Amino acid sequence: MQILIVHAHEEHHSFNAAMKNLAVATLEEQGHRVVVSDLYGMKFKAVADGEDFLERRDKSYLKRQMEEKAAMELGTLAHDIVIEQQKLLAADLVILQFPLWWFGLPAILKGWVDRVMTMGFAYGAGMRYDQGGLKGRRAMLALTTGGPESTYTDTGMSGSMDQILFPIQHGILYFCGLQPLPPFVAYGPAHQSDEQRRAELARYHQRLLALDTLEPLPFHPLAHYDERGQLRPEWLT
Ligand SMILES: Cc1cc2nc3c(=O)[nH]c(=O)nc-3n(C[C@H](O)[C@H](O)[C@H](O)COP(=O)(O)OP(=O)(O)OC[C@H]3O[C@@H](n4cnc5c(N)ncnc54)[C@H](O)[C@@H]3O)c2cc1C
Repeated sequence: MQILIVHAHEEHHSFNAAMKNLAVATLEEQGHRVVVSDLYGMKFKAVADGEDFLERRDKSYLKRQMEEKAAMELGTLAHDIVIEQQKLLAADLVILQFPLWWFGLPAILKGWVDRVMTMGFAYGAGMRYDQGGLKGRRAMLALTTGGPESTYTDTGMSGSMDQILFPIQHGILYFCGLQPLPPFVAYGPAHQSDEQRRAELARYHQRLLALDTLEPLPFHPLAHYDERGQLRPEWLT
């Protein structure tokens, strides 16, 4: 399979970089084709603005989603966005590799989402969730934290990791049609011993070898919701 790793860490010797390098080596060894978008290395433009459109449909008022849709049709999206979209279309699996920043994506990765997941490409009218523009593909979050695992629970001070990741896994990946696999979280690598960190990398290695056997997270398809966006009674547990 073809795998796109979107890597969002500026330090080549970071634990995130070690995870990314391990993924490339492991997956290539398994016979997969791996493409890496190293966002800092590419100096990826993180801010969505009018320069993302080679021509503007409406020069007097910037309404981003309308410009995105028009630019998709006219082929006037900025070149760096088109390249990332082509990588997504060619991928069977997308891995987002990042450190958790302020309980979310680092700005450069959020900017990649803002600019690349355009209307008319990743989502649009009738094109969302299981019908999203990237359907048929899987995705996985591979992330690190500063805080320990014990704080990322329902009763822990950071709150449940499932809830923290819901906007990314459901609101971004699944919204665009990608089927998210269970995330891989390396908790607090900076506070671990070298031995513990090596064990974490070994655990990630096992996860990478098991990718084919993983079931996607059980999110509801569009058909399970009524016209008000409410789960139909038969799907309420
Ligand atoms: C703006 C900002 C916001 C943040 N918000 C949050 C937040 O909301 N929640 C939270 O929990 N944390 C938060 N953090 C902390 C952040 O998530 C962690 O610092 C980060 O996830 C740690 O990952 P890293 O790759 O940067 O680790 P690094 O500090 O780069 O690496 C940790 C250690 O691993 C070592 N290492 C590297 N490669 C290997 C290898 N191959 N084998 C063994 N060891 C290796 C490194 O030498 C280093 O000693 C935030 C940090 C910032 C800057």
